Amino acid sequence: MDLTYKKKNIYAAADEAERKRIFEYCEGYKKFLDNGKTEREAVAEAIKMAKKNGYKPYTLGDKISKGDKLYYNNRGKSLFLLRAGTADIAKNGVRILVAHVDSPRLDLKQVPLYEKSDIAFLKTHYYGGIKKYHWLTIPLALHGVVVLKDGKTVNVNIGEAETDPVFYITDLLPHLSQELNTKTIAEGFKAENLNLIVGGMPAHGEETDAVKKGVLALLNEKYGMTEEDFLSAELEAVPAVKAKDVGLDRAFIASYGHDDSVCAYPEITATLQTETDQTVLTILADKEEIGSEGNTGMQCILIHDILDEIAKSYGVNPAVLREHSMCISADVTAAYDPTFASAFEEMNVGLVSRGVTMNKFTGARGKSGSNDASAEFVGYLRGVFDKANVVWQTGELGRVDLGGGGTVAKYIAKNNIDTVDMGVPVLSMHAPYELVSKADIYSAHLAFAAFIK
Ligand code: MN
Ligand code: MN
Repeated sequence: MDLTYKKKNIYAAADEAERKRIFEYCEGYKKFLDNGKTEREAVAEAIKMAKKNGYKPYTLGDKISKGDKLYYNNRGKSLFLLRAGTADIAKNGVRILVAHVDSPRLDLKQVPLYEKSDIAFLKTHYYGGIKKYHWLTIPLALHGVVVLKDGKTVNVNIGEAETDPVFYITDLLPHLSQELNTKTIAEGFKAENLNLIVGGMPAHGEETDAVKKGVLALLNEKYGMTEEDFLSAELEAVPAVKAKDVGLDRAFIASYGHDDSVCAYPEITATLQTETDQTVLTILADKEEIGSEGNTGMQCILIHDILDEIAKSYGVNPAVLREHSMCISADVTAAYDPTFASAFEEMNVGLVSRGVTMNKFTGARGKSGSNDASAEFVGYLRGVFDKANVVWQTGELGRVDLGGGGTVAKYIAKNNIDTVDMGVPVLSMHAPYELVSKADIYSAHLAFAAFIK
């Protein structure tokens, strides 16, 4: 009898048929990535998928009946999918899956447009944790909305079509970087230098700010907007690059926004494809990357309201419902990177292709700020995953006291709900182009499906 524990490589254990299933599943994921680079676009994609599977819009206050498949669209930026099950929710509670669909990026400021040395620029304010130098000299697209003075909302998407122009942030040439090279990264790369080039052709007949006026004329022609309309716009600069297979064997996918689409997509597919009599609430959250704030983030009371609506419709005490509910907070974790080995502790980190990774706790400096899931809940999930033959692993973000991070888990748990973090390990997390193993994505789908069954 082997008493030792070892992690399994999914690809090594998979036969040709299983490898094919993994690859086919990931073709759908790549489309989701390319069509859903922002929280608004990801929510719209998810609604499309849900509608195809018979989901209907839900309004707070409506009665929920057993068998209903509903979606609640929260301001176009976060989404709740609800499958009202036939099982006794006073005993089983609700199975909750939550991932986020916002990703690190560069947001435009409210007064962004200026001209200098015959070049027009847009000023940005970065969103979430980025390494600023990553965003220099790469093609960038602009996504988002402009709410015009008359209240009309205009959708903007420039830089994704093959023939679209893209936007660009400059870097200093190496020939003249002797001073820059002696600075720390924090000193050398400043947020106020993350300015997007948006034009270089002066408008005819203009004496001052002719390039800026040329850009405004184009924006007016295309979107009917004036400079003042930037005041009520949400425009996000994201990498103008599509998801691609990586490696001769195509084991990996590189893309913008794996954090956290790589958990959101398996969450959605598991929810739409699994036959279950449980009541399932699947959440796509916004604002995770800036602390889950605001009325589209997971600190919002809305989850409490929706659970209350379920309890009311089923005639169950809402406190009892919450007490028996369970949640997987599906968010990415750091994958062990042999090139930066000293940042990790190899026994306790997600290893690529060894499955969706459970972080019993996150946090920093002695688990501070973490939801530390109980051994009982972890033990329960072990049984669920083993029964469904899911290859999974455990991990921590990195070496103790090197840094840390948080997720939405603690905001769910504080409703008296057993919650644990689980997600796909990512290489180069928060870079404009992140890397994951296809085997781990499919493993996440299988784990989430087993959890809600
Ligand atoms: Mn995340
Ligand atoms: Mn993140």
